[in-house]
Amino acid sequence: MSMKLVKGVLYGEGEHHEKPKQTHIIIIGAGLTRLLLAQGLRKLNARLEAEGQSAPFTFSIHERDESSFYRGGGFSLNIHWALQQLYDILPEELSARIFDQMGSFTFLNLQTGEPALKTTIPPGWKGARMSRVRFLQLLMTNLDIHYSHRLSQITFPTDDTVRAHIENGDQETGYLLIGADGTNSVVRRFVYGAENSKNTQLPIRMLNCRSEYPLEELKACLRVDPHLFHAGIPCKMAILCSLFWICRRRGRRTETPSDPPPELPEQLAWLKHMAKHWANPVHDLIYGMPDDSIVQVIRVQEWMPNDANRRPTDGRITTVGDAAHLMTSFRGENANHGVVDVAQLLALLAPSGNKPTDLKEVASTYEKEMVQRSRPPTVKAQEACLDANHYSKITSDSPFLS
Ligand SMILES: Cc1cc2nc3c(=O)[nH]c(=O)nc-3n(C[C@H](O)[C@H](O)[C@H](O)COP(=O)(O)OP(=O)(O)OC[C@H]3O[C@@H](n4cnc5c(N)ncnc54)[C@H](O)[C@@H]3O)c2cc1C
Repeated sequence: MSMKLVKGVLYGEGEHHEKPKQTHIIIIGAGLTRLLLAQGLRKLNARLEAEGQSAPFTFSIHERDESSFYRGGGFSLNIHWALQQLYDILPEELSARIFDQMGSFTFLNLQTGEPALKTTIPPGWKGARMSRVRFLQLLMTNLDIHYSHRLSQITFPTDDTVRAHIENGDQETGYLLIGADGTNSVVRRFVYGAENSKNTQLPIRMLNCRSEYPLEELKACLRVDPHLFHAGIPCKMAILCSLFWICRRRGRRTETPSDPPPELPEQLAWLKHMAKHWANPVHDLIYGMPDDSIVQVIRVQEWMPNDANRRPTDGRITTVGDAAHLMTSFRGENANHGVVDVAQLLALLAPSGNKPTDLKEVASTYEKEMVQRSRPPTVKAQEACLDANHYSKITSDSPFLS
């Protein structure tokens, strides 16, 4: 096949091949948003079939790793303001297994072990706190995923198609390619170029720890909150310690933060050294961390979409979730935006009347809304992150709490 390069994008010339179905969608990545999107497409197809149309959307999912939990399970996740959209996206048999439950918001003083701030969730405010592993397992129900399929290149073989090139030599052609490939998205890099797609690193260091304790040892923590609390130390050195059951993370802020050791067992020794004078229940929790704890360094990064930097992709490529907008986790919002990305896309994909869905129009309408929606909360999440790591700024006015 002969290809020509225009503005860094490879276009096919006179290629003859069997075209896929008009509505074939290629999804890259096996994270939260891609699973949601696939479940939403299943539900949409079922609805359209029930209305007498043959299943209009075909889709394929390509994940670089050999399994969904290859890099560890991760943390706990809050879906709050997007909970209703989450219920709406999922087929009923799956949404029935998500329960709304939120506790309080408690911030402990690590010198005294007493709450420095405690707020209750306003009446009527709904949210679900879930283990990320269990949530992903639920979302994987009945989905066919191509594992060990790392996207390496994207080309446009004809005027209206897009092709995903997989590192192992496989290829897949469709009409819309959706990048749900997370923080360091290859799809984002393709659309925005190497320089404009780079994440910005914030001056915060975070360790995500996963340990298992006998229930007895967690009782003091459970009395503070049944799911999670945050804690900080009122001194010049900035430290935030957030604890989730059973997942917890911890960060530190200075202008030039010192990096924690990259590996166990030094990470555990470093954590214990930091916690030496902290009050209970956090002190004992850290000193009781088993040697087989899983500790991950989390990069606190952000990235905002900007239309001015986009390459022309003619509505054949779009992104959702962290690939589309990356914000710090200090307001627990990015997955909520991922849910809304998927909800918006699905609403646009649903055909209205007899008019067939125009995938290009879907992509460009979705992009406009997504870019406008996701930029302001990225700024707020940055403020929340910096405030959360600065004890005196933890007030009810801070975006960390409001
Ligand atoms: C500590 C922490 C706590 C958080 N808590 C919350 C919270 O409480 N509430 C909230 O709303 N958000 C929270 N977030 C954010 C939330 O976890 C993310 O927004 C969400 O997981 C992003 O989902 P995603 O599908 O976009 O990306 P991911 O879940 O990262 O999935 C991306 C997938 O793409 C795959 N991939 C990457 N490159 C390729 C390639 N080239 N080819 C094929 N596949 C590829 C990866 O292997 C991965 O499976 C938190 C984040 C962190 C770090």
